[in-house]
Amino acid sequence: MRILIVEDDPSLASGLARILEAEGYAVDVAGRGEEAVGAARGERFDLVILDIGLPGMDGFEVLRRLRGAEHRVPVLVLTARDTVSDRVHGLDLGADDYMAKPFAMPELAARVRALIRRSLAQTGPKIVHGPLTLDTVARRAYLAGEPLELAAREWAVLEVLLGKVEKIVSKESIIQAVAGWDEDLSPNAIEVYISRLRTKLERAGVHIRTVRGFGYMLEEFKIR
Ligand code: CA
Repeated sequence: MRILIVEDDPSLASGLARILEAEGYAVDVAGRGEEAVGAARGERFDLVILDIGLPGMDGFEVLRRLRGAEHRVPVLVLTARDTVSDRVHGLDLGADDYMAKPFAMPELAARVRALIRRSLAQTGPKIVHGPLTLDTVARRAYLAGEPLELAAREWAVLEVLLGKVEKIVSKESIIQAVAGWDEDLSPNAIEVYISRLRTKLERAGVHIRTVRGFGYMLEEFKIR
């Protein structure tokens, strides 16, 4: 799950990023509207948190461009002015939710969860692979019917592999899918997550194969 924060106040942006990363989301931050439009064009996000008051292109214009490009990504708008006309304007342009500053971080986190839950509900929330089930809404994993503990990064790596069963996935593409822009995630770190996943999954017959010098492949599940 990847979130783009568009906010020009660096301390607010990093505070938001910290809270959301602690909840297991990969987070990218853009300080300018132009940058945000480019990012949303180039990469897939599950949610955009969008400040209205930005230098240069403002948040309303960013929203207009996102929706003009037929982006259906959920957008949570932040604004310093809690006026009815701002709110109506944002919602008219296709925002999914709206919060006025200052807001409480736990409330923002709850709204983020609700928006992501709502958008996942439209796409089918469960991933099943043999004895392994990922409930992407509740963020719970089960192996052979038993709850399975996964760290946020392990979850993210596993989600990438589950999206490409029986296909080779490069380490580089795993890094791109699970790390934010400003994070340096090394191929060695990916090896560590894979090794932890193997420890947890192999006993149930779920195998991740190493493809030397390239990456990994989640094998099709077979009852042996
Ligand atoms: Ca601002």
